[in-house]
Amino acid sequence: MKKRLTLFTALAVAMSLACSACGTQNVERSAFCGDLESFAPTGKLEGNELFVEKVESLPDDFIMGVDASLVIAEEQSGVIYRGFDGAEQDVFKTLAENGVTHIRVRVWVDPYDENGNGYGGGNNDADKAAEIGARAAKYGLRLIVDFHYSDFWADPGKQMVPKAWKNMDLSEKSDEVYKFTKDTLKKINKEGGVVGMVQVGNETNGSLCGETSWDGVCELMSAGSRAVREVCPEALVAVHFANPEHSGTYAEYAKQLNDHDVDYDVFGSSYYPFWHGTLENLTSVLSNVANTYNKKVMVLETSYAHTPDDTDFNGNTVSDSATGLTKNYPYTVQGQANALRDVIEAAAKATNGIGVCYWEGTWITVGGASREENKALWEKYGSGWASSYSAAYDPNDAGKYYGGCAVDNQALFGPDGVPLASLQVFNLVRYGNDVGVEAESVE
Ligand code: CA
Repeated sequence: MKKRLTLFTALAVAMSLACSACGTQNVERSAFCGDLESFAPTGKLEGNELFVEKVESLPDDFIMGVDASLVIAEEQSGVIYRGFDGAEQDVFKTLAENGVTHIRVRVWVDPYDENGNGYGGGNNDADKAAEIGARAAKYGLRLIVDFHYSDFWADPGKQMVPKAWKNMDLSEKSDEVYKFTKDTLKKINKEGGVVGMVQVGNETNGSLCGETSWDGVCELMSAGSRAVREVCPEALVAVHFANPEHSGTYAEYAKQLNDHDVDYDVFGSSYYPFWHGTLENLTSVLSNVANTYNKKVMVLETSYAHTPDDTDFNGNTVSDSATGLTKNYPYTVQGQANALRDVIEAAAKATNGIGVCYWEGTWITVGGASREENKALWEKYGSGWASSYSAAYDPNDAGKYYGGCAVDNQALFGPDGVPLASLQVFNLVRYGNDVGVEAESVE
């Protein structure tokens, strides 16, 4: 405990060696044959230089997820993902080797303009989700399928209806949600992906797919849930909200879902430490929902910065000059590891807490030497958060502010595609990694 306090107060820890010392276990197996043999390490990974306090009472089946929605657009843009030794390696293999169990992937209905140009953010449609699902399954990783029920980013700020559903009434939209969910999951299954969980909506704080009443939101969620139960009966159905720090909102959301008989298993939350209040509050509001309605709960999105610096010429959300952020950890690899470790603990402490998923842990710079070089790749392959083509659908936000990645300093990989030592937190929280620590400076 004392060492933890040292880490909190002394905001930089001497990190003597580069990641080459990080151990990975040999988890090869002969061939992919449709089943899901786990590649996850069966013991503690050795050689990591970070201090990681063990999370007590962590269930063996606790979900350690990473959203990797951008991977294919990144690879198309020239990004090479590597192992700790610097050699090129399938990023899904690397994730599995380091304790990750699930890959989250978002799905948009039609993130393309009429000429076939992608809106960006990975251009994640059903085909891409199926491709990622197949890649992930090769290494024993299950999918968390994140339906936005929109053609582009859905979050508390906007829940835009897909363009093809624009003039539909609620009942027609409900049919489309059911069909789209069903068709997408069938496609993922057919390509070999193994669906562990399905989100019917993303950060749906009171609106979804253009609907802004709970009657509408819940009807659409129910339609999605019905499709999941039919196509993937073994998968968990999740709902996903943001802003746990807003007092009373989660209790209200859960009550609305209950009043409208929405059939779901997991009440999920985003939790970004710099925005979303205390860990104690997170545990408390999730436990309240779990206890009141007998639901599972988890953190479906979290992340933290390992450096204050930008690497792709598109300014980052978290930086030394950013305002309005609560900085509870240093912007270092150790700080990132502490943040992730503590969110895992907070989720595990919650009643029926089943897991944590790190958001876009693989979204790094596309690697050009100038903004112009990178922009060409963002536009062509959708590897930035939005392309200029998104203006056709979302003229007031993405269409105005399109560009690259604002979270490259929150990835679990460095700009060279080599994993950071913090990736191994998914493994090390199960055992603890009690290395000696030494303060470098105090903020
Ligand atoms: Ca950036």
